[in-house]
Amino acid sequence: MGDARPLVMKFGGTSVADAGAIARVADIVTRARSESAGPVVVVVSAMGGLTDRLLALAAAAELRTVPHVTVDALWDRHVEALRTLVPAGPAVALERDLAAHFSDLRALLESAAILRHASPGALDAIASTGELASSRIVAAALEAAGLPAAWVDARTAIVTDAQHTAASPLHEPTRGAVAATITPVLADGRIVVLGGFVGATAAGVTTTLGRGGSDYSAAILGSALDAREIQIWTDVDGMLTADPRVVSTARVVPHLSFGEASELAYFGAKVLHPATILPAIAQGIPVRILNSRRPSAPGTLITARPPDDPRPLAAVASKRHITMVEITSSRMLMTYGFLRRVFEIFERHRTSVDVVTTSEVSVSVTVDDDSGLAGICEALREFADVNVEREMAILSAVGDNLRADPRIAGRVIGALEGFAVRMVSQAASRRNVTIVLRDGDLPGAMCQLHAAFFEGGRSLEVGERVMFVTEAGVRDQEVGVRRQETE
Ligand code: ADP
Ligand code: ASP
Ligand code: MG
Repeated sequence: MGDARPLVMKFGGTSVADAGAIARVADIVTRARSESAGPVVVVVSAMGGLTDRLLALAAAAELRTVPHVTVDALWDRHVEALRTLVPAGPAVALERDLAAHFSDLRALLESAAILRHASPGALDAIASTGELASSRIVAAALEAAGLPAAWVDARTAIVTDAQHTAASPLHEPTRGAVAATITPVLADGRIVVLGGFVGATAAGVTTTLGRGGSDYSAAILGSALDAREIQIWTDVDGMLTADPRVVSTARVVPHLSFGEASELAYFGAKVLHPATILPAIAQGIPVRILNSRRPSAPGTLITARPPDDPRPLAAVASKRHITMVEITSSRMLMTYGFLRRVFEIFERHRTSVDVVTTSEVSVSVTVDDDSGLAGICEALREFADVNVEREMAILSAVGDNLRADPRIAGRVIGALEGFAVRMVSQAASRRNVTIVLRDGDLPGAMCQLHAAFFEGGRSLEVGERVMFVTEAGVRDQEVGVRRQETE
């Protein structure tokens, strides 16, 4: 028996990167429909790498430099996919629709070149081309595969505020828009396909939800539709015990609580946009992370109920290339109102802090976005000594059981023996222990922590060599040799 509540399936950039990937999406959706007769909503990202390229075109237009890519190359990539997937008749109409998006794109880039500036609103309109185009192709490809699909313009479904490039959804207006544009199509027995990442203000101006925001779109739609499940189809087997680009031995976590998943996402597990879990929590909608290249793999299931699993940690995550600011009260001890003044300055500069630690005389914080830092430091120096250290990293160990067993936090710190730990913070939720160290130390530290908790509980020996992956390739490092260098 089918469930009448919709299933929301979101496919990321690599899952719709070309005709072959989109054909796999059609197979996955076909199978989902055959397993359950309930309604299906498909949310898709732009073709892999497209958003980066669109934003690079905008940057080049502003500077009037020659971009590395051309609009023609992006157009060709879409046309090649659509001609492979869609029969000649419908392909003609689809090509016309795509051409309209690309002609807007060209006009936007020309205007950015004339003005030598692309406003945040213009950037959103430029970036939206990726999801608008990919979703039209996926809708047509599903139809070509014999599925009753209907394309919906995401700008008629997701209503946001006007905070361009990082817009927030407005829940009640979105519910109303979804009821008007999506519900009737589902009731008609059709599969709704729409682009993620993109929305519009109540006045209809195009916005985006921030990088990686297609996951968030899926969750917003899942919440507005009271979905039975939100599936995030991506290029890995699920939430892994560590970032696989750093720890090659990372493995799938079968079950996570909402709390664990949202902290992992917040602390850098890119597989999930940090806001994705919030709408799901509100309604208890399960979220599943699945691999579109290996659809039979079980993936990771994220639910409200914490897993019974006694595992000490769920996973570790990291945020790299962040900045640490140490603020020391100019008086001997921190005076009343010191912390309030400090945080007011960060707020005024719209800079959010990730990790905070305090001592009697100082407070240390980390920031991801250091664009407002010069102004922040100037204001802080009026009443405090300020020391800024760039190229730092946050390493977080996350697990619900950290709350129940205080010894686990001690084991996390102990597992980092040999690394110069600069800050340690245990969140109020006590679901994570977060450590700040030098970015150069992060890969080795993450491997060592991962080995201690996920590789048979084995602790590495000082002097043993660990392998890890960096942007420059695979490297190895001797465990415990950092201490002398960094202290
Ligand atoms: P999509 O385009 O499908 O949204 P993303 O690139 O945004 O995919 O996210 C998937 C990537 O997240 C993986 O390829 C992996 O490199 C990275 N990643 C980082 N940390 C984790 C983790 N803990 N588990 C799984 N993937 C992770
Ligand atoms: N295409 C957008 C990005 O690359 C949104 C997403 O893929 O989630 O950021
Ligand atoms: Mg993503």
